[in-house]
Amino acid sequence: MSKVIATGAILGSHYYVKQAEALVEKAITEKGADFKFEFPDTAYFLPQMFAMTGFEVRTLGDMKTALEQKVRPLVSNVPDDHLYKPYLGEALDAGMVTLFAQEMIMAVRYIYGEEPVKDDSIGLTYNGFISDTILRNLGVQLVDGSMPGYVVIVGAADSDEQAFEIARDLQQKNILTLLCGNVNGNSVTKQLLRKGVQLGWDTRLVPLGPEVEHAIYAVNWAARAGITFGGMKGGDYKKILKYSKDKVFAFVMVLGPLNDRIWTTGAGAIDMGFPAIANTDIPTIEVTGVTIYEEVAKELDPAKLVQKCIEVRGLKITVSKPPIPVAFGPAFEGERIRKEDMHIEMGGQRTPAFEWLHMTDLDKVEDGRVTIVGTDADERYKKGGQMPLAIVIEVAGRKMQKDFEPVLERKIHHFVNEAQGIWHMGQRDQDWFRVSINALKEGFVLRHLGDILTTQLKHKFNNIVDKVQVTLYVDEADVKEKVVEARKAYLERDIRLATMTDESVDTFYSCLLCQSFAPNHVCVVSPERLGLCGAYNWLDAKAAFEIDPNGANQPVMKGETLDAVKGRWKGVDEFVYTNSHQALEYFNAYSIMDAPMTSCGCFECIMAIVPEANGVMIVNRGYTGMTPIGMKFSTLAGTVGGGAQTPGFMGIGRFFLTSKKFLSADGGFKRIVWMTKNLKESFAEQFKQRAEEEGIPDLIDRIADETVAEDSDKMMEYLTAKGHPALTMDPMF
Ligand code: SF4
Repeated sequence: MSKVIATGAILGSHYYVKQAEALVEKAITEKGADFKFEFPDTAYFLPQMFAMTGFEVRTLGDMKTALEQKVRPLVSNVPDDHLYKPYLGEALDAGMVTLFAQEMIMAVRYIYGEEPVKDDSIGLTYNGFISDTILRNLGVQLVDGSMPGYVVIVGAADSDEQAFEIARDLQQKNILTLLCGNVNGNSVTKQLLRKGVQLGWDTRLVPLGPEVEHAIYAVNWAARAGITFGGMKGGDYKKILKYSKDKVFAFVMVLGPLNDRIWTTGAGAIDMGFPAIANTDIPTIEVTGVTIYEEVAKELDPAKLVQKCIEVRGLKITVSKPPIPVAFGPAFEGERIRKEDMHIEMGGQRTPAFEWLHMTDLDKVEDGRVTIVGTDADERYKKGGQMPLAIVIEVAGRKMQKDFEPVLERKIHHFVNEAQGIWHMGQRDQDWFRVSINALKEGFVLRHLGDILTTQLKHKFNNIVDKVQVTLYVDEADVKEKVVEARKAYLERDIRLATMTDESVDTFYSCLLCQSFAPNHVCVVSPERLGLCGAYNWLDAKAAFEIDPNGANQPVMKGETLDAVKGRWKGVDEFVYTNSHQALEYFNAYSIMDAPMTSCGCFECIMAIVPEANGVMIVNRGYTGMTPIGMKFSTLAGTVGGGAQTPGFMGIGRFFLTSKKFLSADGGFKRIVWMTKNLKESFAEQFKQRAEEEGIPDLIDRIADETVAEDSDKMMEYLTAKGHPALTMDPMF
């Protein structure tokens, strides 16, 4: 262990612990020891403290206790100047002490309204604490590899241009970038803003705060992963640290000179298994164990820095870039193009437009061909403004099936949005494109839309797509003529989907993607029940199996039906038992009360029994208010996740609500007594239809939401006044 690093880490920990003690003492004097505190939208108290020690800090008084009992005993003496010894243990302890202290400093700052930091001089409010909701939102991307990892950048690059290049490189590699710290007031956050780069979760460039201690938000986010997805308990520090090292692919990039505060924060990151890589000439630590590869490394060539980080953390990066002149990657998916930054738009009810993908014979497709049909198409595109646009994609492949057409067509949205400066919304004949002025300046022409689609469809679906060709129609008459055929195809698909039931197929599909986080969790996806993250329906899973026959989506033969009402099949039982590593014998697909399906951590919604109402309530991820059972989403999520089977509670995908198999063994759709307004509104039409099918057309109005009740009493008053059917149904248990 480098003495320089160990000394810096220990000195830095002294600095933070003293600061935390002083701040907590002051806050207790002013607000009292019983003053309650929780970070926004988390079920894990002070998450770093909770994950490592199991100690639940709920008040200022608890913070003082934690400082006295959990932090102070770990503080080491500063190494002697004259005596060399390896200081690894002390330095790592110092790092953990620092994380605990930084977390409390941030908590007190939150109490005084000083977090998240607002900097009017740059017109920015930093992100601050990262919520449990965001962790769950990103869950699928982290498990399926589309987000291979995340980096915490501390400091400032040597120039704005260099910061821009590093950020763009990370974006193109789909790595989430969290920013904090500064060098003499300058920071990567400021450098990117000066370069006109959009910051935020949508672009995967998130400014946490202006100081190095804001890195704690990235670290205590990681500390929650083992509990949220891995089924671990607060205080399981050995397991959580190992989980963090093996499964949370984070690392720290330090730009600019280091000081004790940075060394000690870096030591904390190393504790979590996250290596630190600097762009300056620092001592390095090449031993492994606490991290997978080197603990501290350096790379002085800015052009090689990102690659060095990837090697040191051992990230697996698979990137394919279509032949277009703008940057490309999921990090650009959330980029917005305002009207004043727009060069041209198509569709969006402004011009006729649609997009349609269909399969055809192999000999009818010239692979990679992009054809533009229309008068003066390129000139009109260059001129800007608005233009009609029909995109007709023809795919052919020996393993291609008609059922895969909508799966592939839905990808148009993602592929097009991944191009920097191109924006897409909607689908089918309700689509909308925008091309930015900057994209035009960089040379993005009309045919590049086709190039994106031909290359990406081949790349992502190479096992089922052998050839792709794209035709772009830009004359209004053509678009209006071609859309008739497309609409016929949309209708045929809708009819096919509507008639697809669990009984109509003999095979379901598994999804084991989340096992990288929740090792015993198995999703079984059927035509009438999608995966609980909402990202995989039966067709998606079927296509995924064809694309990668050895992947996470495997066919599950239903076999003998053991219970048609509850949804239990012999083949499914066997698959679940084997693939949950014997943790689960079976589940019932249509019940929440009797052996429900397990939940990992990235469910879109949580459903929970409300005994007094003889029904269930449903809360979606992102809703931060209270529910009538006295628990917020974040607290409920702590009860449900980790691959556990919890009767009375279940994680589900939003679309399951409109399925005829929704709780069909427990009384079905009529059991819903409370759900968020957001859910009600997002499925208004489908709910109406389901309510009519249930014979109670005004059922939605009889279901309470947060605008009428956030507690049980008010909810019961509402249900009684409305005559909700659940009140008179058979008891749920
Ligand atoms: S379908 Fe299930 S296992 Fe697959 S990603 Fe979604 S939640 Fe995870």
